Amino acid sequence: MAAEVRVRYAPSPTGQPHIGNIRTALFNWLFARHHGGKFIVRIEDTDQNRLVEGAIEAILDGLRWLNIDWDEGPEVQGPHAPYEQSNRLEIYQRLTEQLLDQNNAYYCYCSREELERLRRARRPHPNPPPEGEENLHWGNGCNCRRLGHAGAAGEPVGDADRVVRFAMPESGVTQVHDLIRGDVEWRNELQEDFVILKSDGFPTYHLAVVADDHLMEISHVMRAEEWLPSTPRHLQLYKAFGFEPPEFAHLPMITGPDRAKLSKRHGATAISEYEEQGYLPEALLNFMVLLGWSLDGSTEVVTLQQIIDNFTLDRITKSAAIFDQDKLMWMNGVYIRDMAAGDLARRMAEYIPRQLDDGEQDYLCNIAPLVQERLKRLDESDDITAYFFGELPSDYDPATLVQKGMDAEGTLAALEAAVGDLESGTTGDGFGHEKLEEMLGETGQRLELSRRQFFGLLRTAATGRNVSPPLFETMEVMGRERVLARLRLAVEKLGGTA
Ligand code: GLU
Repeated sequence: MAAEVRVRYAPSPTGQPHIGNIRTALFNWLFARHHGGKFIVRIEDTDQNRLVEGAIEAILDGLRWLNIDWDEGPEVQGPHAPYEQSNRLEIYQRLTEQLLDQNNAYYCYCSREELERLRRARRPHPNPPPEGEENLHWGNGCNCRRLGHAGAAGEPVGDADRVVRFAMPESGVTQVHDLIRGDVEWRNELQEDFVILKSDGFPTYHLAVVADDHLMEISHVMRAEEWLPSTPRHLQLYKAFGFEPPEFAHLPMITGPDRAKLSKRHGATAISEYEEQGYLPEALLNFMVLLGWSLDGSTEVVTLQQIIDNFTLDRITKSAAIFDQDKLMWMNGVYIRDMAAGDLARRMAEYIPRQLDDGEQDYLCNIAPLVQERLKRLDESDDITAYFFGELPSDYDPATLVQKGMDAEGTLAALEAAVGDLESGTTGDGFGHEKLEEMLGETGQRLELSRRQFFGLLRTAATGRNVSPPLFETMEVMGRERVLARLRLAVEKLGGTA
C-alpha cells in the first residue's frame, strides 16, 4: 500500500449525477476514510461541448446530501471548492509540449471525414506484420505521424486546424494488475493514436486524467469498469512522461434486475430525485455500498462505521451489481423505523409543504412514532399525517361510518353514546390510550356492539379513514378536543345533533 492513500472522484459535469456516478464517489471516499487517507473531488470539465449548466452544483449537492466530504481543493477558489480542470489548461499544454518534444506526440491535421474514410479502408493487423507486408499499425490511419509533424518550436499548441495525438507504441502489450479485476493486457498495435490536445487548446480526458492523477499524487484510481479500456492509453502516457502510475481498481458494473446496464427505466436516476422521493441519505448510502461491496456476503444493514472499518478491496466483487428498487425501498423503511421520534419528525416536516409552527412540530413528534411502522418514504409524510392536522376530515362518505351488521340509526346512536361518555368521563389531561380503551370498551359492551363494529366506526369518525395506526394511541395523540369535534361531525353527517 502506498505511503498515503489519496483517491479521487472525477465527475464530468455533463448531466445530473446518478447512482452509478455517486457509487464511484462513495467507494473512493470510504476507501480514503478506511485508510485515513485523502479524498479529492476533481471536476473534469474539459469537454466544453458536453457541459451542462448546473451539473457541478448538482454533483456537489448530491455529495453533501450524502455527507460525503472532500479534503482538498485549490484554495484560490475557496476552501470548499473542488478542483476544476478548466482552470488548469496551462498544465496540460505544458505537458503536451513535453510529449511533442520527446516525439511521443504529433500534430494531426486530418479532418474527421478524412479519418473516417481511412479507418474504413484499413483494418488492424497482427503484430509483427507478416514478411513483406506493410506494418498496418492501427495508429491513426493517417500520414501525420509518419510525416513527423512535431510543430515548430514556439508555435502555440492549441490551433484551430490541428490536434495533438499521442503516438502509441506500434508493438508489444500494455499490462495492468487491476486490484479488482486481476491481470489485464492489451496489444498496443490495436490501440489508436488518441487525441491528447484538441484544436480548442483543451486537453482530452486521457491527458488531463493522467496529468492530474500524477500531480495530485493519487495513489489509487478507483473508477467504473467502463474506463478499463482506457487504461492502456493512460499507462502509456505515464510511461512517456516518466511518471509512476497509480494502482488501478475498476468497480463492477451496475445493472438493473434484467441484467441490462442501469438506465432511467430502472427507477429514479438523478440523486436529487431520491431526495425528493423521501429516501434517507443514510439508507441510500447503505444501499449503494452493497452495489459491489459486502461485509460478509449476507449482512445488508450495516452502520457507516462498520462499513468504513471493513472497506477493503477484497470485499469488492468482480461480478456486476444488481440494482433493485424494492430493496432500496425496504432499506429505507428499516432506517425510518430505527430513527428516534424527534429526528423522524424533523425529517418528515421537510416533506410537509406548509410551514409547521412550534406547536405543530411538537404534535408531529407525537405522531411520528405512530406512523413510523408504515412509513416507507418521507414523501408520504404529508398524506400519512394529514388526518391528524387540519380542521376535520369532512371529505369522507358518511356511509363508510356504518359498519358491517349495523345501520345508520345504530351508528348514530353509538356515536352519540361515545360523545357523551367522552365528554363526561375524560378531561384534556386524562385522555391516555389505556383509559380510552377501557372506557370505550365498556361503552361498546353496553351498546352490545362487537369491538370490530364500535372501534371501526370510531376509527372512521376520528380519522376519516378505515385504516390507521392503533386507534386509542391515535386518539390520545390527537387530543380530547380534536377527537370530540370529529365525533360530533360524524354525528352531524348522519343527521343527528351533538
Ligand atoms: N471524468 C470521468 C467520468 O466522468 C472520470 C473517469 C475516471 O475516473 O478516470 O467518469
